[in-house]
Amino acid sequence: MGTIKEVKTEYGWWYRSCKDRLCTKSLKDIGGKYKCDGCGAESTEFTPRYKIHLTVVNETESISFIVFEREAQNFLKKSYNELRRDIFENVNI
Ligand SMILES: [Zn+2]
Repeated sequence: MGTIKEVKTEYGWWYRSCKDRLCTKSLKDIGGKYKCDGCGAESTEFTPRYKIHLTVVNETESISFIVFEREAQNFLKKSYNELRRDIFENVNI
C-alpha cells in the first residue's frame, strides 16, 4: 500500500471517450468529428471520462500512474457527469 502524494492536473483530468460503453477508448480529433482509437467509430459526440494522473509513494519508491474512470469510480464513487454536476451546483456565477 502507498499514499497518494500528488494528483497531476497538467495533462487534464478527463478525456474524450468513445460513446460505446463497452469500448471507452479515447477519441482522436480528425477535424469536425472524432475517431475512436479502439473500434474505429466516427462521431461528433463523445463521453467525457476521468483520466487522472496520480503519484503514489511508499517507504521505498514513488510511482506515477493513470487511473481511468472504471477504477476511479471505485474510490471517488461518482461518474464524471455526477462530479461535474456537483461542481456546477456549488459554484455561484
Ligand atoms: Zn470505440
